[in-house]
Amino acid sequence: MLKGFIAGLAVANAFEWFAHKYILHGVHRSGQPRYSPVPRSMESHWAHHREVRKQEFADECYVQGFEHWRTRNEVMSLAVVAGVASVAFYPFSKGMSLAALYSAGNYYYVHRRAHLEPDWAKASIPWHYDHHMNSNQDANWCVTRPWFDYVMGTRVVSSADLKEANPLGIPLPATFSKLLTQAIESVFPAKWVEQKPKLLASAVVEEAEKQSVA
Ligand SMILES: [Zn+2]
Ligand SMILES: [Zn+2]
Ligand SMILES: [Zn+2]
Repeated sequence: MLKGFIAGLAVANAFEWFAHKYILHGVHRSGQPRYSPVPRSMESHWAHHREVRKQEFADECYVQGFEHWRTRNEVMSLAVVAGVASVAFYPFSKGMSLAALYSAGNYYYVHRRAHLEPDWAKASIPWHYDHHMNSNQDANWCVTRPWFDYVMGTRVVSSADLKEANPLGIPLPATFSKLLTQAIESVFPAKWVEQKPKLLASAVVEEAEKQSVA
């Protein structure tokens, strides 16, 4: 049961990664809109991104709850996925079946709370803060835990204060957490947003200011 449950958590995390990338963001096509197999969910998700960047990480849809179409869209999608997965897993693993239900519920709890309490999000799921606030929003796909982003090389950290203590995204004793991070990152390193050296950046700004005055 426990093994199945843990395997189920890993599968659910991989699903977060794939569904977020290919269904919610869609595949880029040159000269055409992005392609998603579920266009309504993609539309909902991009509206979420626009709102979050305007509102410093908050999203009104979670304040309004089910009255808001995007909240309904997210909950219904999670219910469908959890329902199908739990039924499909049940015959060979009760643990995986349970993990599917838990993961869907946890996803909604974590994602909703993150956009109701941005400070909590920064401290608890910094990878999702990076997902929305980095200039490249096509990275950092996992929401509840960053596991699959490490595996796929898509955990892109913007700054040291938004780097989780370890790739499991779980609070652990500091020494163990450090050793674990070194071990995992020796195989699956996090990437960092390229920072322009500060002196150069401020020189560019000064130059731009001069030009705008002139
Ligand atoms: Zn997104
Ligand atoms: Zn493109
Ligand atoms: Zn979000």
